Amino acid sequence: ETAGLDPMRVVGLVTAAGGPTAHTAILARALGIPAIVAAGPSVMALPDGTPVIVDGDRGLLRPDPDAAQLATAEKAIASGRDRAAAAKAAAFRPAVTRDGHRVEVAANCRKPEEAVEAVAAGAEGTGLVRSEFLFDDRAEPPTEDEQFEIYRKLAEGFGGLPVVLRTLDAGGDKPLRFVRHPAEANPFLGLRGLRLCLANPELFRPQIRAALRAAKHGDIRIMLPMVDGLADLRAAKALIEEERRALVAPPVEVGIMVEVPAAAVMADQLAAEADFFSIGTNDLTQYTLAVDRLHPTLGARSDALDPAVLRLIDMTVKAAHARGRWVGVCGNMAADPVAAPILVGLGVDELSVSIPNVAALKAQIRGLSRNEAERLARTALNCATAAEVRALPVARE
Ligand code: PEP
Ligand code: MG
Repeated sequence: ETAGLDPMRVVGLVTAAGGPTAHTAILARALGIPAIVAAGPSVMALPDGTPVIVDGDRGLLRPDPDAAQLATAEKAIASGRDRAAAAKAAAFRPAVTRDGHRVEVAANCRKPEEAVEAVAAGAEGTGLVRSEFLFDDRAEPPTEDEQFEIYRKLAEGFGGLPVVLRTLDAGGDKPLRFVRHPAEANPFLGLRGLRLCLANPELFRPQIRAALRAAKHGDIRIMLPMVDGLADLRAAKALIEEERRALVAPPVEVGIMVEVPAAAVMADQLAAEADFFSIGTNDLTQYTLAVDRLHPTLGARSDALDPAVLRLIDMTVKAAHARGRWVGVCGNMAADPVAAPILVGLGVDELSVSIPNVAALKAQIRGLSRNEAERLARTALNCATAAEVRALPVARE
């Protein structure tokens, strides 16, 4: 439903249940619709026609605002617009901190038409193409040629900028109609992502072939989702290599998503065989804190700024850099203005966010000092809770 909302008509979105990393929140962000999730069942009792202020930045819903509150909200909207206009005007400048450290800012994409939009918004490529969304309305699996056409369009749309194409991440909260998903008590802990693709090579191989063929038209890199260890990475790489040889295609980079805690813990070994890492903080948070991203009431506990998640990110970055690999973050966390300085301080090389967030993130990074961000990150790693991290003085600025 969220994917079908028209941002020209829908001015805000409030859900009683859900969580900040569920796909409703992700899509609302991508559409630029102010949203609050997990507001609690009381919102269902608000009579139709009740005026409300939806403050998506702070997660505050104010029903029946008085004139002063309305005036404050209108002022905040106006100054937000001014800030956005200033960020947009500088969108094509790189995101370089005050002390000269460059961070790549890329966009998360769902369809090839978004490539042009992303580049126009200042994105330096796409750090995550959620390929499962390309085919979520279909009853039949897409053919290799259909996929090739889509990936070629993406590659050309980005005009030589990096296109990190994530292979099908079906299952969990993203079942696909043309995939026979097994009945499982815990689909998030079941046959999803890369596991599902390796179990169904007739699904995986055409996608790989299409990606390898499209790589001739741009800078396509293959990213594997839900990698839980070296065994699956090796199996996937062997399959990719087999298809590459059969096609006589040049090699492409093969990276992994770090979204299972085991992958972060074993990052030193994975970095020896993966060309890059991109941290999927939505799933990494869910699995680290044992909070279902769709849980109706535990949404508030699922904060990627939890020091447990930050420590896993820290381990991943250190292990990757020791092998000369780059690390991105493509989960929702990358677009959280409180999180961005910490991620920069932890040494993350690339942040990939929804298209409407690109310019603002670049502007925010330009205002940071890497040294200060590193100090902030070290303090955050030693906090006890996400709330403590959010209360850190520099993080609030
Ligand atoms: C993530 O888990 O952070 C991620 C980017 O992947 P998705 O949200 O599509 O599961
Ligand atoms: Mg994920």
